[in-house]
Amino acid sequence: MTEARRDALTTLAARAGELATPSVTAPLVEAIYQSTVYAFPDLDALEAGMAGQADAYFYYRNATPNGTTLERAVAALEGTEAAACAASGMAAISAALLSVLGAGDHVVTDERVYGVTYALLRDELPRFGIEVSFVDALDLDAVRDAMRPNTRVLHVESLTNPLMTVADVPALAEIAHAHGALLSVDNTFASPAVFRPAEHGADLVTHSLSKYLSGHSTAFGGVVAGRADLVAAARLKLVRLGGTVSAFDAWMTMQGLKTLGLRMRAHSGNAQAIADVLQNHPRVKRVYHPGLESHPQFQLADRLYPDGFGGMLSLEVEDAAQFVKRLAGRIPLAPSLADVVSTLSHPWSTSHRALSEDDRRRLGITPGLLRFSVGIEDISDLLEDLERALE
Ligand code: PLP
Repeated sequence: MTEARRDALTTLAARAGELATPSVTAPLVEAIYQSTVYAFPDLDALEAGMAGQADAYFYYRNATPNGTTLERAVAALEGTEAAACAASGMAAISAALLSVLGAGDHVVTDERVYGVTYALLRDELPRFGIEVSFVDALDLDAVRDAMRPNTRVLHVESLTNPLMTVADVPALAEIAHAHGALLSVDNTFASPAVFRPAEHGADLVTHSLSKYLSGHSTAFGGVVAGRADLVAAARLKLVRLGGTVSAFDAWMTMQGLKTLGLRMRAHSGNAQAIADVLQNHPRVKRVYHPGLESHPQFQLADRLYPDGFGGMLSLEVEDAAQFVKRLAGRIPLAPSLADVVSTLSHPWSTSHRALSEDDRRRLGITPGLLRFSVGIEDISDLLEDLERALE
């Protein structure tokens, strides 16, 4: 091949793959827009796009069509004005908090929050001059007492990990607002199918997308939902800190999201049935599920969660190692949650291992405690597996 022909082929190959012209038909399922950059027809269009005067995608870290589709879906489900997707649940929580807090500000948080959120609040935010108070958010007087004139945010989880305590979101919103602060709620354990914090006064709602919103342990991301101005501020932090979601993960999450309502009905029904059976089992010391009358916030849960409580519960047994071993091959030990398949986790050695032994025991996290993410399998099979493991 001559040099000239090789050069021509090089150009041809580089410029090949022109976009297919739009047809009269549209794909039923949205395409994945993997392009990291968008081409503008001229300088006027570039100017309008960059100045925000025209709807124009331009760079992957700022926004992708797949991210926007997911954001609109989550905002619709949570009943909020807007949503911004993130690369992980922690990116979403970090952006939500950093968009409101600055040096000299104060944040109050429930001491039961997810371990990495706890570490973010305990170890990272104080390095930037942000003061943090950890309280028992079930004690509303303690929350009220912790609020200060410079408190900007009160942060809680709607259902907590692993003991399934229920945040009194309407009361917490009232306390936050009375002190000029925002209420931020991590709604990961509940999902908007069973609880929508914004309907009860929350200002910022966050999720880890790899849990119920996607539902199959195949997509990774996070989301912040809320009022348009608050979401815009969080989005700015995500763009500047580089924490936006990938197009593929947004697309994958959308595929899971379509069945959220059906999945949550099955998760909730199975978890309630298992909690009912296990609470009377002689080999089970204790069951933690908001649908049990023995649960300390049963009345509150019943009022706030008319459609069920999702698929999470915890149980305390004499010998957790034996229980896990007997379930092996049927219900895997996997340190995540919310898959369509049931999984178990051991909070003592995973999510809460950063806490001292005394703190873990004080919070009710013992070596015999197992967290059960109840899947959508047939309930009779799940009950048979559990019965066999407890024999
Ligand atoms: N919030 C809760 C309640 C979680 O359980 C998790 C992770 O397990 C997160 C936030 C963090 O999400 P991610 O792992 O997507 O960063």
